[in-house]
Amino acid sequence: MTTESASHSIRRIVVYCGANLGNDPAFKAAAVELGTVLAQQGIGVVYGGGGVGLMGVVANAALDAGGEVIGVIPEALKALEVEHRHLTDLHVVPDMHSRKAMMLGLADAVIALPGGFGTMDELFEALTWSQIGYHRKLCGLLNVNGYYDHLIRWLEHSVRTGLVRDVNLELLVHGSDISAMIEALRTKPFPFARKWISPTELDLKV
Ligand code: AMP
Repeated sequence: MTTESASHSIRRIVVYCGANLGNDPAFKAAAVELGTVLAQQGIGVVYGGGGVGLMGVVANAALDAGGEVIGVIPEALKALEVEHRHLTDLHVVPDMHSRKAMMLGLADAVIALPGGFGTMDELFEALTWSQIGYHRKLCGLLNVNGYYDHLIRWLEHSVRTGLVRDVNLELLVHGSDISAMIEALRTKPFPFARKWISPTELDLKV
């Protein structure tokens, strides 16, 4: 493995999170804190462009704190009138694939708050692309109130069972402290490793 020396300059972070609020008040509180802290640190928010759920909460918190917020929304969702109408900038794109590519392209790092299928799709696409060298952007998983405990256990299991290379777990920073996460995304060396694991390297511990 080789690593790239830190630190990375972070102008914008793409935030993936639920289009719903969920029923744990800690989710909304974390979304408010994340939007506020990003704005206070002069870091722009890129996100799905919706005004609903945790997405809308992050966007409004960042805007209220004077931050830059860029939305990227597919035409079909805009037509459903769920787009946020007061963003710094809103890009309307033809489909979900263009949206995910543009969101990641506009940002220097990723943070996932609690969310559902859409959030996981976006996070794992970013991770998948980074482990095959399409970009060099670290991902952060904000584990609010233990929401991602099971996912973190699965990540460890995927390494133990030889389907994910251990060093590629380093592409993902997880924790519950927002400022510490932003600092880690800025300073953590970016790992470079081959995605593929040869049979001789496999050390099955199951
Ligand atoms: P989910 O985690 O399934 O709630 O999906 C949320 C994620 O998918 C967000 O990060 C968005 O980028 C995208 N998304 C899902 N629903 C919407 C919506 N109604 N408006 C904008 N983006 C959405």
